[in-house]
Amino acid sequence: MKTDVIIVGKGITGLVMSFLLHKKRIPHLLVGREEKQRPLALGETLPPSALPLLQSLGLLALFEAHALKKTTGYHSVWGSNHVTDHNFYFHRPFQYGLKLNKESLINALEEQQQEYIREEGRLTAITETSGAIRVDLDNGKSIEGALVVDATGRKRVVSQALKVEQVEKDQLMCFSCHVPTVRVRGLPHGVFVEPFESGWGIVSELTADTSVMTLFTTKDHEARSLITNYENWPELLGETRHLKSFLSPLNEAKVMGSKANSSRLTEMAGVHWLAIGDAAMAFDPLSSHGITSGIYTAQQAVEAIAKVRKEEGGMPLQDYSQTLTRIFEGYLQQKRQLYRQERRWEERSFWQEMC
Ligand SMILES: Cc1cc2nc3c(=O)[nH]c(=O)nc-3n(C[C@H](O)[C@H](O)[C@H](O)COP(=O)(O)OP(=O)(O)OC[C@H]3O[C@@H](n4cnc5c(N)ncnc54)[C@H](O)[C@@H]3O)c2cc1C
Repeated sequence: MKTDVIIVGKGITGLVMSFLLHKKRIPHLLVGREEKQRPLALGETLPPSALPLLQSLGLLALFEAHALKKTTGYHSVWGSNHVTDHNFYFHRPFQYGLKLNKESLINALEEQQQEYIREEGRLTAITETSGAIRVDLDNGKSIEGALVVDATGRKRVVSQALKVEQVEKDQLMCFSCHVPTVRVRGLPHGVFVEPFESGWGIVSELTADTSVMTLFTTKDHEARSLITNYENWPELLGETRHLKSFLSPLNEAKVMGSKANSSRLTEMAGVHWLAIGDAAMAFDPLSSHGITSGIYTAQQAVEAIAKVRKEEGGMPLQDYSQTLTRIFEGYLQQKRQLYRQERRWEERSFWQEMC
């Protein structure tokens, strides 16, 4: 099989890139794999600042149709015991954010991009030749193209196969569990963030009945072994002002853990490849910017590919890589500032590592 661009990874960023390539009539194929496990709904939130980008790409209506709800803001207790109301009412032009139903959004995007999704397969090898690149799949098929896109999220399957190195800035991990929705007086937004001695946590209302709670700590922290078991959460959150109030006794608690650290590739593009979304640069969920950044990288990548095809000169793929590197460095500074605002446990290993 032959095409121009091969996107590996059918997450939000891979699918959005396919949508944007389709708009520019650039031939491409999207390679995905069947998920073994249904992912836990996290109710990822897009802040109001993300919505103009979606609008400009013609994606706002679709994202709104697959949102669990519009969000009005969030509350946090960070740096002191006071509750801060981060109210989206004051944002322009959009005074709301979107809490996504990611599974339903991905299904809709897949349906929309169906003509480009050829093979459900796992990538087994990538071979670079002088003018092309070949992707081999575990179903025995191969696809040849001019460029391959790594959209495999934090797994970075394409970049690893091409031996591109990655830089990990911390070792943050997250542990999520669905809990019954609890309403706490004075916290009407349904999203609440609060730190504790060995990490921080967020609770986010998915529906009137179910919320998702996620606790964060670092990979080698002693709290990590406790966090994997929901029964230990009341002890870990015992000193929090409000977070502990969202815990309810559960008969069967399923805690799902994964990486949540800040990391990036040393380069985001080469002659026959580029990376988008989490594969290019992965953000701390505290930023709430993973999906927005993923969509932005897909847009920038498509613009760079269009320039290469027009042979306008310059080095569009290298420029793309440099732009992303600059964005990531700016993000790191903001992230450090945010963690440094919390000084109540500045001597504790988690806070030392994250600052
Ligand atoms: C707890 C938590 C909370 C978060 N909250 C927010 C939030 O509020 N707002 C926000 O914007 N972001 C949030 N994020 C981040 C956001 O979820 C990610 O940034 C985003 O989903 C990344 O999308 P992606 O398409 O780049 O990667 P992924 O969603 O990881 O998609 C990668 C795709 O590649 C596929 N794949 C992997 N390996 C292979 C292979 N070998 N062959 C073929 N396909 C493969 C996978 O199956 C998957 O479909 C949060 C993340 C976490 C962990």
